[in-house]
Formats: sequence, structure tokens, C-alpha cells
Amino acid sequence: MEYPQIVLKPKEEGRLREGHLWAFSNEVAQAPSGMAPGALADLVHSGSGFLGRGFYHPHSLIAFRMLTAQKEDIDETFFEKRFCEAQAWREMLYPNIRSYRWIFGESDRLPGLVVDRYGDYLSVQLLSAGMEKLRALILPLIEKIASPKGIVLRTDAGLRELEGLPQASPEVVFGQVPEEVEIELENGRYFVNLLKGQKTGFYFDQRDNRQALAGFCRGRKVLDAFCYSGGFGIAAARAGAREVVFNDSSEDALALAQKNAELNAASTIKTFVHGDALKLLDRQAPGGPYEVVSLDPPAFARSKKHLAVALKAYEKLNAKAMSVLPRGGLLATSSCSHHVDRAFFMQMLRRAARKAGRSFRLVELRSQAKDHPILLSMPETEYLKFAILQVV
Ligand code: SAH
Repeated sequence: MEYPQIVLKPKEEGRLREGHLWAFSNEVAQAPSGMAPGALADLVHSGSGFLGRGFYHPHSLIAFRMLTAQKEDIDETFFEKRFCEAQAWREMLYPNIRSYRWIFGESDRLPGLVVDRYGDYLSVQLLSAGMEKLRALILPLIEKIASPKGIVLRTDAGLRELEGLPQASPEVVFGQVPEEVEIELENGRYFVNLLKGQKTGFYFDQRDNRQALAGFCRGRKVLDAFCYSGGFGIAAARAGAREVVFNDSSEDALALAQKNAELNAASTIKTFVHGDALKLLDRQAPGGPYEVVSLDPPAFARSKKHLAVALKAYEKLNAKAMSVLPRGGLLATSSCSHHVDRAFFMQMLRRAARKAGRSFRLVELRSQAKDHPILLSMPETEYLKFAILQVV
């Protein structure tokens, strides 16, 4: 099959040759007029010829998203192969656990497609005009491969806006989906609401980090601040934490955390505090009761423009948590802001430690879970920073 050609400007091909999947609008020299957003096209370069095949968008900052660097047809067979490859990797990562991020967009070389699997149920996000355009091919294919009982389409995802796609309430597009689905992961059992929950219902991206932190929680009193459905606290409780305090500013989230906590680790004392995490930390005496504090706030930096303000907010929050820990205590701290890279994150933590007047040992520096792979040549696919620090 022939595809229309998008011509890249001279000297702009290096990043794509290395394995990056995007060409930005200012890097495109020429494109046929009248192409629909998300149309399939070839990206070519005057010097080196064919670069890859993918989606073109005439009005998005990301003008081209590569699906393949081969001259292969983009059809059902192509997607079936990609979906099965993605599935095989997750099955290897989490054997016998049927809940994971099955497809993570660019990281699975499926730009703009996100699929989370909750056992027999799937939650799908179409985040690029190209994937939206192929909806009638993709949804039945996912259904064929996974044989789910139900599929939810999360058309409420904010990223859709950048591609000029409408936002709408989530809908069940196949089968039936109960109000709540119960999943069992390596470190906890959880109820997930696929239609009303945050994002697709559950944060799989922290699963490996919850496991990493849990190993330090035996016999200790833990604060799970910004808990949402309780992932960190529940993993800690299952690993033998003496006591866990869950905190979230959303009443719905806290109610969900409570419901989930009841499914797990009966012998751990659990309490639930509604309200602002910073205020909760403010009420603690220095060296106070928590031996482990987990901070997992929402993204403070929504765009590059907000970076400086966001870094200050992270610093303030982390300094507060650092100051309430006793010697030997642990801080597990996260940032899911794309724009805060590892270097910024580490610098922010150093400043926070100085502000708190404490010294720390860096126990672990981690990123998103392995079901959210990172492409070596595409830094944009990495967004989560997670550090475990110990007061020395
Ligand atoms: N730790 C969770 C994910 C956290 S998502 C997990 O492992 O699944 C971020 C959460 O922070 C959301 O549930 C949101 O309601 C909550 N939140 C936002 N601002 C907050 C604040 N100021 N204080 C406490 N919680 C807050």
C-alpha cells in the first residue's frame, strides 16, 4: 500500500534515526495539503529517504508519530502483532497476575494508545488522532485478543485535547462492566472503578515502587500521603507495617482506600485522615510518630511554564516530610511531572533536605513500573521519579 509523504527538514532526521518516534511541526518541510488529523503517512528525508510510517497531524505540535521504521502495511495484522508482543512482555513481568498496563502508547510503539487490563475488564484511552481514527479496527482487535467481559473507553482523558479530540464521559463500549472490579496484584487486593476512578481507575505505574518500599516497612508506622486507592499503604501493611495512616484530600479516594485497606492485612492498625497532606505534616512534631512517609502528589508541573513554581511546591512538601522523620526514618517520594526530570528532582530533594536541616542517604532511585516501559531514545516516555531516602 502507498501512503502520502511527509518531508522532514534537512538535519532533523538524527533523533528519529536513533529511535525517537516524533517529528514536531517545526521540523516538517512539506506535507500534502488537506490531510486529515491522524491520517497514515510516510516520513521521508531528502538525504536519507524513508524514515518511517505513522500518523500525521496537520495541527498538532507533534506532527508525526511513528508506528514503524519498516515499509509494512498498517493493518489488522500489524496491530495484532504489536498487541500480542506487548501482552507477552507483561505476562513475563507479572506471571499469573492478570492486571497490568497492557499497552503504554509510544513505549509499545503504539503512539497514543493506552490499555489497562483489570483481569476480565479493560480500560482503553485513545490519545492520538491516529488511534481515534482507527477505533473501529482497534477495539474489536483488543476484544479478540483478550476475550474480556467488558471494555471501558476513557474519552475523558485530558491529553485528547492536544490532538483536537473531543472529551466525553467514559463509556462501556463492549460487554458489561460492574461498578467495581476487584483485582489482585503482587502486593495487594484492590477495588477499581473503571468508569469513575482517576485516570483509568488504578495507578499501575507505582506497583514496583510499592513493592520496593514495602520491604522497609515491617514493624513500622507508615504515612501514606496522597494515597488515592491506598497502594503504598496496603503494600506496606501486607509487608508487616505496625500501623498505616492513609491520607487524601479527596473524600471519594479516601473512602476507596478504606474499602481496599479492609481487604488486606487485618492485623495492621489503619486510620484514614481526610485533608491536605501538607497541613497534616504541619501538625506533626519533629521526629514525630511516622517512621516511614510516602509522598505521591499529583503532577505539580502541567507544562514547562509551570516548572519553577512546581519545583518550589515539591521542595516545600518534601522539606516538611523530611523534618518530621526520626533518625533512621524513611521518605519515599515521587514526582509524576514529565517536566521535572531526574536532575531537577534530585536537586529539589537536596534543597528540601537543606531546608529541613537533615541529612539523607539515597537508598533507591527508581522510575515507573516495568509495565510502563521507557524507550531509550525517547526521554518523553519516562515521567515518574521515585526515591527512597533515609535520615542519617
Ligand atoms: N499514591 C496513589 C496515587 C496518588 S494520585 C497510589 O499509589 O495509587 C494523587 C492523589 O493525591 C489523588 O488521589 C488526589 O486526590 C490526592 N491529592 C491531591 N492534592 C492533595 C493534597 N493537597 N493533600 C492530600 N491529597 C491530595
